[in-house]
Amino acid sequence: MSNFQQVLSQALMSGQILTNEPMSRHTTFRVGGPADYFAKVETEAELAGILALCGQWEMPYYVVGNGSNLLVGDGGYRGVIITLGKNFSGVRKAGAEKLRAGAGALLSVVAKAALKGSLTGIEFASGIPGTVGGAVVMNAGAYGSELADILGLVRLLDQKGDVQEVSAAQLELGYRSSNISARELVVLEAEFCLEAGSEAQIGGQMEKLAAQRRAKQPLEYPSAGSTFKRPSGYFAGKLIEEAGLRGFCVGDAQVSEKHCGFVVNRGLATAADLRQLFYEVQRRVHEHSGVELELEVKLLGEF
Ligand SMILES: Cc1cc2nc3c(=O)[nH]c(=O)nc-3n(C[C@H](O)[C@H](O)[C@H](O)COP(=O)(O)OP(=O)(O)OC[C@H]3O[C@@H](n4cnc5c(N)ncnc54)[C@H](O)[C@@H]3O)c2cc1C
Repeated sequence: MSNFQQVLSQALMSGQILTNEPMSRHTTFRVGGPADYFAKVETEAELAGILALCGQWEMPYYVVGNGSNLLVGDGGYRGVIITLGKNFSGVRKAGAEKLRAGAGALLSVVAKAALKGSLTGIEFASGIPGTVGGAVVMNAGAYGSELADILGLVRLLDQKGDVQEVSAAQLELGYRSSNISARELVVLEAEFCLEAGSEAQIGGQMEKLAAQRRAKQPLEYPSAGSTFKRPSGYFAGKLIEEAGLRGFCVGDAQVSEKHCGFVVNRGLATAADLRQLFYEVQRRVHEHSGVELELEVKLLGEF
């Protein structure tokens, strides 16, 4: 056992540390090589301890939520992948029309709690397969709404181990972006400001949106959702289709036949195949329409 692994293990009381953990187990693309260290933390103290250790040992680290917007290279990640364990996944009422959720909670679970409490406003996010932490960082959105519309306070941990609670306005939430990763902050908890509604209507809306997703999105294949951001004035999927790329493949990586905005893993795709397909789509769309597609999916590790 390396010295670093020893000190890392000591920093975890209730959490868990794995070595050479395949990232294919932790991403919705189902690809990605081994992370040197994979730490599941269960308390804020453990998390702060690991960040401090990574600082002292100059060890790179990266926080992963549900891995639903992430492509990890086949060579894996040299450093520590940090993920938030079940103690970070609670959802509770915080005032009549507010819910507070741990950063590790899935949006679907927060949406279920809202439904149960007859709170409306988060229906749009009920089918986004990410955690609260990942969704805040990405300012995830769908059907004309985004997290910024319902986000109140956010609790964050900085690299020094200090906790701060800030309003969403301080996070510079933009289209699928925030300033959280650049400031090397970890989301601990978020508050959602909702409104009283009818349980039947909220449930109906969630079901309607879920049916739309099933009809339009290739949910039968591993993917990371929309591969590219929506370019201003265009739709990425339409540009890709117009460039003749529906169904275009590199190995088992494919521009979805069902929805050109999605790149899917038909089973045996490698991260290298997927990344090559992303770049080829960008090149051909630019050639065809002059529009530069920007990746929404984040690339991590060694390819
Ligand atoms: C089938 C499918 C459909 C999708 N539909 C949508 C959609 O409609 N709208 C949409 O916006 N997205 C969609 N996505 C993409 C994805 O689900 C969202 O971007 C989601 O918010 C990512 O959350 P995550 O927990 O999986 O984050 P990850 O992919 O694990 O990470 C994303 C980023 O957040 C950071 N991060 C994660 N947790 C924390 C934390 N606690 N603190 C600090 N940083 C953190 C990571 O470092 C990374 O930079 C879809 C994906 C799939 C597979």
